[in-house]
Amino acid sequence: MNMKTLTTDFTVFRRDFPVLQETNRGRPVIYLDSAASAQKPRQVVDAVSNFYFHDYANIHRGIYELSERATRLYEQARDRVKNFIHAAHAEEIVFVRGTTEGINLVAQSFGRPRWQAGDEVILSTMEHHSNIVPWYLLKEQLGIVLKVIPVTDEGAMDIEAYEKLFSPRTRMVAVTHASNVLGTVNPVKEMASIAHAHQVPVLIDGAQAVPHMPVDVQDIDCDFYVFSGHKLYGPTGIGILYGKKALLDAMPPYQGGGDMIETVAFSKVTFAKTPQKFEAGTPDIAGVIGLAAAIDYVQSAGMQQIYSHEQILLQYAEPRLLAVPGLRIIGTTKPKVGVISFVMQDIHPHDIGTVLDHEGIAVRAGHHCAMPLMERFRIPATVRASFGIYNDENDVDALMAALHLAKRLFG
Ligand code: PMP
Repeated sequence: MNMKTLTTDFTVFRRDFPVLQETNRGRPVIYLDSAASAQKPRQVVDAVSNFYFHDYANIHRGIYELSERATRLYEQARDRVKNFIHAAHAEEIVFVRGTTEGINLVAQSFGRPRWQAGDEVILSTMEHHSNIVPWYLLKEQLGIVLKVIPVTDEGAMDIEAYEKLFSPRTRMVAVTHASNVLGTVNPVKEMASIAHAHQVPVLIDGAQAVPHMPVDVQDIDCDFYVFSGHKLYGPTGIGILYGKKALLDAMPPYQGGGDMIETVAFSKVTFAKTPQKFEAGTPDIAGVIGLAAAIDYVQSAGMQQIYSHEQILLQYAEPRLLAVPGLRIIGTTKPKVGVISFVMQDIHPHDIGTVLDHEGIAVRAGHHCAMPLMERFRIPATVRASFGIYNDENDVDALMAALHLAKRLFG
């Protein structure tokens, strides 16, 4: 192993993840699928169980101390998220189920009431299905038009083409910060500034950026930013929609129910203010507590350090992968986060995945919920290895050994 190339000793983080002591098909688990979902450190699980054991009650409505305590933890978590992504106000942070729900909320609550047939939304070829289908639903509901930014052969956003897609009918740009397939980090700040020059708001899908790099929504100057807790070492079922306050204030609620109202009569309902207006029903309180613990956890490592750690692993992995005869990396542009997709001549990605699985290695093989991108590269699927805080060069070495085995078995 060559730990000398790592800036910080990241092995200390590895110890926080009990699952890494488990086996996969009888072999020590090598987890290279953090882009699908990250493993959970003890600190996050402890925060959730402590909450359930010691502070649990429903929030906002309770008139007793336990409920006040739960409410305080919930609202403090909102503040932690605000600081984490450098939002201007805690009210700009809406707790949702995940990236998917955040995008659907914006499509239905921002787009649907104000757009008409012929209005246009700009997306890109490298979007995850969750940043395509909510807009497609609006296409069916309203007759809006989806315009698509092409991706270059290297896997970069074609910015020249992007600039040409604007028209007087453009109503929204919705693009990913980092691609879950290519790893490409897109120039979202520049893209937002181009959109704003056309008075068009911008939604950024941050699902694959937030776990890997520092994010500052005010610096990007995006109008909406969404991400999921489970990719950030937090619980499933919790995520964040950030929206500029003036925009959120002007949007109608997405769902109706308890907790999002001020007064209810059959003749007239008045709604709570942002962000409660968007948090109908009993929320995932424990998920929110767990997400705050996950944020504390990654901040203890430092987002810039996590980014550098993954860059070192990328630099370690890429030349070794390319030395495998017939292997092609899909997405070679820089900068990219710790996500590597590849295909191998004459071996289907699913067969590679099966060999790796038997060697204890967890990767993804498939279209990664990005079918238009697969079509763009004329491939049915890729194998995707993705890095997290707990990975090291040993994991890459194990991956390489298993790929050479796959080559011997199938090649
Ligand atoms: N966008 C991107 C770029 C993703 O990678 C994912 C998850 N694979 C999503 C959106 C959807 O996230 P979730 O399933 O947590 O809502």
